[in-house]
Amino acid sequence: MDDLIQKTAEHLAAAKHVVALTGAGISVESGIPPFRGKGGLWEKFDPMEVGHIDAFMRDPEKVWRLLISEMRGVLEKARPNPGHLGLARLEALGKLKTVITQNIDGLHQLAGNRDVVEFHGNFAWLRCLDCGSREQTVAVDLSRMPPRCACGGIYRPECVFFGEGIPPMDLDRSQIAASSCDLMLVVGCSAVVQPAAFMPVIARQSGATIIEINPEPTLLTGTTSILRVPEKAGKAMKAIVAAVEHLVL
Ligand code: NAD
Ligand code: ZN
Repeated sequence: MDDLIQKTAEHLAAAKHVVALTGAGISVESGIPPFRGKGGLWEKFDPMEVGHIDAFMRDPEKVWRLLISEMRGVLEKARPNPGHLGLARLEALGKLKTVITQNIDGLHQLAGNRDVVEFHGNFAWLRCLDCGSREQTVAVDLSRMPPRCACGGIYRPECVFFGEGIPPMDLDRSQIAASSCDLMLVVGCSAVVQPAAFMPVIARQSGATIIEINPEPTLLTGTTSILRVPEKAGKAMKAIVAAVEHLVL
């Protein structure tokens, strides 16, 4: 393990333009369950029932109740963990330029990263299905389901449901970031959900080195990534950042 941490730190120390791609795994140590895997929300819910835009449009109240209201309690309490803080430190050290995240929890911004592409949107804002006006989630009464705008329309979260496209600007920004990095860190990301999973492939094709931090192997392991640190994101990032500081400061 120490060897993999040291190797990762050496790659980071040598890199000039690092991009991180993060998935639900980086927020697990902040108390937010992932969808897939052990303890994942999908053990409790059918993703197509709660995560698909058609399901939401058919029965917004049910989707709000099942998934979103459950997530809200978790998200409000969550704070950045050493995984997020490590990425913020790498930005402060001048190494990390952009974080592309699949997460909707806002923890990268809270940790201090400034260029964050939220591929799947976020849960901090809601948008009215009728008049399109936006409101901060914390300012909306979620005790009545589904929550409604002053115009009477139903609010939806500003996250991307299954069956919806990634906003073109986010997709563009991600592709530019992926093709301009010399090192991509893929942290807590199973690389199953497209098109986010394609970003490491773009990076690799553009000549970048891909390193994973994930306790489990993924589709990238042994194919796209040159090494995987098989450890939880928080523990791994803390050790990696300490080793980078030792090399560059
Ligand atoms: P995912 O497909 O990226 O899978 C999670 C990955 O994290 C797995 O590979 C798992 O091995 C790894 N992992 C688990 N614990 C870890 C840890 N402590 N450190 C590092 N890696 C760890 O994500 P998903 O759970 O299938 O979610 C699918 C989509 O749903 C996400 O892309 C996101 O849009 C949304 N989602 C967001 C959040 C959030 O905002 N925190 C949480 C759940 C789901
Ligand atoms: Zn409205």
